[in-house]
Amino acid sequence: MAKLIKEEPDKGRLHIDSPLMGESLVSKKLLERTEAAEYFRMHPDINVIKIGGQSIMDRGRTALLPILDVLIKAKDNHKILLMTGGGTRARHVYNIGVDLGMPTGVLSKLGDKVSWQNAEMLSVLLAKHGGVKIGHGDNLEQLTMFCRLGYIPITYGIPPYGFFEHPAEFGSIPPHRTDCGAFLLAENIGARSLIFLKDEKGLFDKDPKKINESERGTLEFFKRISARELMALDLDDLIVERPVLSLLQRSKCLKELQIIDALRHPEYILDALEGKHVGTIIYKD
Ligand code: ADP
Ligand code: MG
Repeated sequence: MAKLIKEEPDKGRLHIDSPLMGESLVSKKLLERTEAAEYFRMHPDINVIKIGGQSIMDRGRTALLPILDVLIKAKDNHKILLMTGGGTRARHVYNIGVDLGMPTGVLSKLGDKVSWQNAEMLSVLLAKHGGVKIGHGDNLEQLTMFCRLGYIPITYGIPPYGFFEHPAEFGSIPPHRTDCGAFLLAENIGARSLIFLKDEKGLFDKDPKKINESERGTLEFFKRISARELMALDLDDLIVERPVLSLLQRSKCLKELQIIDALRHPEYILDALEGKHVGTIIYKD
């Protein structure tokens, strides 16, 4: 803890004696000493649910309305923060940006509007059930209050990197999109769980939409896998954004996340909220 020590009494100046004083905050040894035995969790009862943009919202009412019915029922027993993906419109604008040679940070700024549009649509659809769209500002400290009052807070999944987005390992598409945003927010508010609503049973060794019928029998499903193992497999394609895996390895609060097929099984949302294993669980090891 920092100590206030009064020096130079003649000048009445206060000095703050902090263990971090004079440090570059780069030293690994020093940084290790800042690890907390247990991290403070601001919203330990909130479940963060990310609704896929491409996998759910772009499919319109047939996919979305049964999911909303489950969420409306679930909110009586579970505190929920909804976060939205981007989807096809984000892909369209990324494609134009890529064609024009736009840098990653510009693409990030273009894509965030689509995730915002999806949050807007959800908040309209859920308005009479307490849906309330919030930004990434001070309302995030009030999530538990919103849920206690019967609201369903909704925010967009894109993290606010904008022009500060990290360069991508390959190409120029922003690497931290809405899966990462949902992860980062869930981690930093100390959420109870993080659930991704998608259109596949979970993680396979290949994208099930991109294989021939003859290969279907060879597809391997991962019911439970650690972030470390999954990174080591170095699969070409994944059902979640790749940086989520390295973020999960570093997480202080979240121990796992679950990806479920909410398209074919909207009822799995309730199961996942109750802690049941109905999709793929990726865990920190
Ligand atoms: P969201 O709508 O949440 O953004 P995406 O469409 O970006 O979801 O990603 C989900 C899609 O990822 C699935 O619909 C699936 O076709 C694809 N996918 C790619 N690789 C895999 C994999 N290894 N296992 C399962 N699905 C995969
Ligand atoms: Mg996606």
